[in-house]
Amino acid sequence: MNEKYEAVIGLEVHAQLSTETKIFCGCTTKFGNPPNTNVCPVCLGHPGVLPVLNKKVVEYSVLLGLATDCEINEKSIFARKNYFYPDLPKGYQISQYEEPICEHGKIVVTTKDGVTKNIGITRIHMEEDAGKSIHDRGYDTCVDLNRTGTPLVEIVSEPDIRSAEEAYLYLTKLKQIVTYLEICDGNMEEGSLRCDANVSVRLRGEEKFGTKTEVKNMNSFRNVERAIDFEINRQIELIEDGGKVVQQTLLWDADLNEAFPMRSKEEAHDYRYFPDPDLMPVVVDEAWKEKIRSSMPELAETKQKKYIEDYKLPEYDAGVLTATRDLAEYFENVITVTDDYKSASNWVMGDISKVINEEKITAIDFPISPKNIGKLINLINNKTISNAIAKDVFPEMLKENKDPEVIIKEKNLVQITDTSAIEEIVDKIIDANEKQVQQFLDGKEKVLGFFVGQVMRESKGKANPEIVNKLLREKLEARR
Ligand code: ADP
Ligand code: ZN
Ligand code: MG
Repeated sequence: MNEKYEAVIGLEVHAQLSTETKIFCGCTTKFGNPPNTNVCPVCLGHPGVLPVLNKKVVEYSVLLGLATDCEINEKSIFARKNYFYPDLPKGYQISQYEEPICEHGKIVVTTKDGVTKNIGITRIHMEEDAGKSIHDRGYDTCVDLNRTGTPLVEIVSEPDIRSAEEAYLYLTKLKQIVTYLEICDGNMEEGSLRCDANVSVRLRGEEKFGTKTEVKNMNSFRNVERAIDFEINRQIELIEDGGKVVQQTLLWDADLNEAFPMRSKEEAHDYRYFPDPDLMPVVVDEAWKEKIRSSMPELAETKQKKYIEDYKLPEYDAGVLTATRDLAEYFENVITVTDDYKSASNWVMGDISKVINEEKITAIDFPISPKNIGKLINLINNKTISNAIAKDVFPEMLKENKDPEVIIKEKNLVQITDTSAIEEIVDKIIDANEKQVQQFLDGKEKVLGFFVGQVMRESKGKANPEIVNKLLREKLEARR
């Protein structure tokens, strides 16, 4: 990017709320049913029907507002946003306009260099989703109205974002918050999170914002990052060539790595918003707000603080362990069994996360119970098995979540801590390797490693490494 310029970015994110039923009727929000089966006169927009607000939608929106430091407006209003489109049978979308449920919040992001930054949230409002037009059937366009009336919240950020990386971090954090709250599954590939990026550039030092464009149609966080970078560069080149950015909407093409104009004329939408006469103002009084607040689960930031301060874990570990609520809960269950927090962290971040990532599962579906991992750690710490043996026990545990103690007994893997038994092996190895003994006596310290290896092999990995080291050194020194 040309250093003369600075990018200004604001994101508009739609999050699909994971309620059982739609926002204004009792239809299921279940995905994957045959087209146009999850519908009723209300969500089909038949004349004369009356919408009834789903209370859960309000609670979820307030939860998100509280988690992002928003003010929760005691009174908010549903408004009709009027436009014509085949997937919108009523001819208007019920949304919130002038009086949204949440305002003036923030999301805190931390960049790679460890710098934290607040990204303001202008507003969060509730609205209904439209249906789905399907154009790829080879015949006429089809409309599936199952999605019509699915509850959404739209989260609008302030133009506080200055790079594609910050946009990525903001989205990652937002996803973490909604998934911790369990109000949205956060899956961008499946459309549960959708992001439109507003992008402009200005000369560094300039106060006034440049003309913005809006980029849509990104279906992954990485694509949002790429699309923003593309658009920043396009605008800078345009300006450098003496051109002017025009306000327009662009569609991101992930295959071509390029954004193309969708509507090129200055957008002059007139949605003729007005308060929906069928819906009462939404009132969230202090008592309800506090009740919702008290149901708030512990969020990642609070957990991180606890991990660092109470469990004395490095900041890095705290970040990795709390990346998802599932993983954090797994870790927390491990440490109900062992108080070796650092080992628990190492296992969860290492061997366990490796399997979770490879198998593309979540910690919930990880086959070994946290309790058994805790036991394994304790077996290492009380010297029943060595670390090396633990690495062999782990795959066995993966097979059927067996108690590690049982596996160790069955496979006869208990560590040899009996000094005389180890001494026997040590003597044998020393006698069999005269040449290496001489090398050691000549000052080649490194040969000790060779002897340790031999003894461990002879004991099938079961000899306690500390005792092996100690005995070897004693016996070798005795030969001087
Ligand atoms: P519009 O009226 O075009 O919808 P809004 O003022 O509602 O614009 O803002 C929509 C989004 O665009 C918000 O996220 C806001 O932060 C962002 N935004 C506003 N102005 C700019 C700008 N000049 N450059 C980049 N983003 C902007
Ligand atoms: Zn319905
Ligand atoms: Mg707007």
